Amino acid sequence: MSKNVYFFGNGRADGTAEMRNLLGGKGANLAEMTNLGIPVPAGFTITTEVCTAYYQNNRQWPAGLEEEIRENMKKVEAAMGKGFGDVNNPLLVSVRSGARVSMPGMMDTILNLGLNDETVQGLIKSSGNERFAWDSYRRFIQMYSNVVLGADHSKFEAIIEEKKKERGVTLDNELTAEDLKDLVAQYKAWIKANLNREFPTDPWEQLRGAINAVFLSWMNPRAITYRKLHKIPEEWGTAVNVQAMVFGNMGDNSATGVAFTRNPSTGENVFYGEFLINAQGEDVVAGIRTPQEISLAASQQWAKENGISEEERKAKYPSLEEYMPECYQQLLELRKKLEGHYKDMQDIEFTIENRKLYMLQTRNGKRTGQAAIKIAVDMVEEGLIDKKTALLRVEPEQLDQLLHPMIDPKAKVTIVGKGLPASPGAAVGQVVFSAEDAERWHEQGHKVILVRTETSPEDISGMHVAQGILTARGGMTSHAAVVARGMGKCCVAGCGEAVVDEANKKVTINGHVFKEGDWMTLNGSTGDVILGQAPLVEPEIAGSFQTLMTWADEVRTLQVRTNADTPHDAKVARDFGAQGIGLCRTEHMFFGPEPERIKAVREMILAEDGEARKKALSKILPYQKADFIAIFETMKDLPVTIRLLDPPLHEFLPHDRKGQEEMAKEMGIPVEKVIEKVNALSEFNPMLGFRGCRLGIIYPEIFATQVQAIFEAACALAKKGQKVVPEVMIPLVGTTGELQKIREYSVKVAEEVMAREGVKLEYLIGTMIELPRAALIADQIAEYADFFSFGTNDMTQMTFGYSRDDAGRFLPTYVEQKILKDDVFQKLDQEGVGQLLEIGLTKGRATRPNLKVGICGEHGGDPSSIEFCHKIGMDYVSCSPYRVPIARLAAAQAELKNPRRK
Ligand code: PEP
Ligand code: MG
Repeated sequence: MSKNVYFFGNGRADGTAEMRNLLGGKGANLAEMTNLGIPVPAGFTITTEVCTAYYQNNRQWPAGLEEEIRENMKKVEAAMGKGFGDVNNPLLVSVRSGARVSMPGMMDTILNLGLNDETVQGLIKSSGNERFAWDSYRRFIQMYSNVVLGADHSKFEAIIEEKKKERGVTLDNELTAEDLKDLVAQYKAWIKANLNREFPTDPWEQLRGAINAVFLSWMNPRAITYRKLHKIPEEWGTAVNVQAMVFGNMGDNSATGVAFTRNPSTGENVFYGEFLINAQGEDVVAGIRTPQEISLAASQQWAKENGISEEERKAKYPSLEEYMPECYQQLLELRKKLEGHYKDMQDIEFTIENRKLYMLQTRNGKRTGQAAIKIAVDMVEEGLIDKKTALLRVEPEQLDQLLHPMIDPKAKVTIVGKGLPASPGAAVGQVVFSAEDAERWHEQGHKVILVRTETSPEDISGMHVAQGILTARGGMTSHAAVVARGMGKCCVAGCGEAVVDEANKKVTINGHVFKEGDWMTLNGSTGDVILGQAPLVEPEIAGSFQTLMTWADEVRTLQVRTNADTPHDAKVARDFGAQGIGLCRTEHMFFGPEPERIKAVREMILAEDGEARKKALSKILPYQKADFIAIFETMKDLPVTIRLLDPPLHEFLPHDRKGQEEMAKEMGIPVEKVIEKVNALSEFNPMLGFRGCRLGIIYPEIFATQVQAIFEAACALAKKGQKVVPEVMIPLVGTTGELQKIREYSVKVAEEVMAREGVKLEYLIGTMIELPRAALIADQIAEYADFFSFGTNDMTQMTFGYSRDDAGRFLPTYVEQKILKDDVFQKLDQEGVGQLLEIGLTKGRATRPNLKVGICGEHGGDPSSIEFCHKIGMDYVSCSPYRVPIARLAAAQAELKNPRRK
């Protein structure tokens, strides 16, 4: 006969950590902790096989199970020095489920089992606390009746409410022992009247009922749905853990607490924890009483910060180190043992019952980004883990917290609305509703938050001076989101609850009205919109951050470049370790600081013929050349990919009457002419319209001018001795013809410039692959491309047929309803879009085996997408400057998980 029940207690367990399938996750952990010599309240685990047999056997227990349980209960009684059903010194137990994988809250739990009218007297004696004993008893009846007898929870709540009314109190804890005793009688009467049975008084009958209820809860609708969603097979079954209850609320010799083996917010290697005397676990979490520090030093520090004298501290809030020194010493030893075993920072829960310490739980502790890095690096230095483990232990996304100001986690804030966390960090400022107002307020020394329905390239200057940006429309790759991330600026996008009234300069969010000049705080890491000025903290970049990045660079095989359009962004990215620019969007330069830039662009757009266009372009040329010189200089010898003009031309014209009038005045033409041009350029689907290389086919002089500027800049620097290898990138190519033509004239311009300047440069002309067709015919395209860069923003848009700027209306619901796993503009859709990347890369390299391939869509900064890019064999990813460290770590993790290096 196989073993059905596994004991744990008194430093020895029948099971082991490896027996997860048989004992469930919780049972295996309890066994593991016990075997480590951690004082866990004794108990036993009924195996998952019994659950399966129970269902196969018409919901009957297998032969011999009852005897096994009784034998094990004897061991528990011996370990705890109490008796199950003993009226003088009763052992109470908890009965809990525990599947192979955790299914939080899906199945049932019963606490305080073993109480009846006799044993409750024993509990009063052993605890010396009558109220506690009756409260435990009434909670048990309530829980048991609900879980095992199927009574509606609310019936009991109604009885309590009635009692409170009768006694003229509002809170449960204001009821006296007498009241609770009376509630027990009322509960039992209710059960008899409504369920036609007595509440079971025999502890063994109680136990049988509870075990069956846990088995049955494996098949409750919640659990079934959870299993379906998480692909957990029904045959696995659940184990049942029966464990001695211990009480931290048995008087002043009892306590309960939580602790971290290291500081979870800074990572500092100090024991960090809190406890409460005469309390239950939930009291610590609930925050009703002030918990006390475990260690003396922390307690003194706390008193100092709160202006509490040493006498008062000692009398009212002593540390555990002073109050129960022997338990404190034991905890210190356990801390060392746990870290030595689990090789990670642990989050522990403990209870002290009559000066005896019990551990209830230990698990890897949650931590901030800063702590994650420090702990990982420290543990390598302490010899606990190796570098590889350290690199895999830090979530790349967590680094983000170190790269932007944050809202003080201790601050209480009022959240009025929620949008997409489009660009992380926090921003506090006064609300303005246009780019001009942003600039004006900024000049007057104000900090502003720019609120727009959506942003366009015209808003760049306003975005630049704003602390943060809030938009009502648009997704994670909307203009506002992309530009804000590029600037490292906080942005909450697509806040559907925000009604922006730009004309009247106000925004209404869930009933809160913000007028121009009102204070607002944005949390770009969570998408929260907050009332007023929340306090911010500057993140600290610790030395271990640098160490971890160095280790990442030693490991990774994927290069990390950046998307940068200005020397400032380029410099930030370089400082963060970028190995080049993977995408320089030239259009943003047209909105640069000097008004002549946009004026010249507008002249070019209004031009009636090629000659006029060339004339306007010749005014743009020196600006572009200066921009490129500055960027090449910043990047020094690192590669720079410059993309030729991509957006539709109407984006450079004003769309409101006021702007159009201003433009007409400035250019000395009638306003009708401007309006006529705006109308002529308007498109039904601008994203599918006259943009990208299509501009370069219809107006070759535009691209030719840009190429000329690039090569003149490169030659100027080459003459000064700098090595420059320009990489010219053609956007939105879908046919070989487009690329062939543009390449041809670009080469001609490049050669002419170099001949004129007397400089010979190495250079590359490549293309973006951002249309599905381009990926499918990538072998032909590669004939004319020296490199490929996947523009996955457009590729995602074009593959799904979701407009990048409008998807915010439905994508969140798609994710909520699990139609899509993630926002596909944030995380690459590996299943669909990923196939196109793989096809594109494979076909491209079939033509040119050494073809350099990268990605420059927003996905280039997303860890799971980076792992995919690594796996399919890309050479580099390119992401916004503030994501470069994240990408470096993600690339290292990708290499560790899927080594390319032999
Ligand atoms: C892309 O489409 O992925 C891309 C990088 O280009 P843009 O976002 O400028 O269209
Ligand atoms: Mg694109």
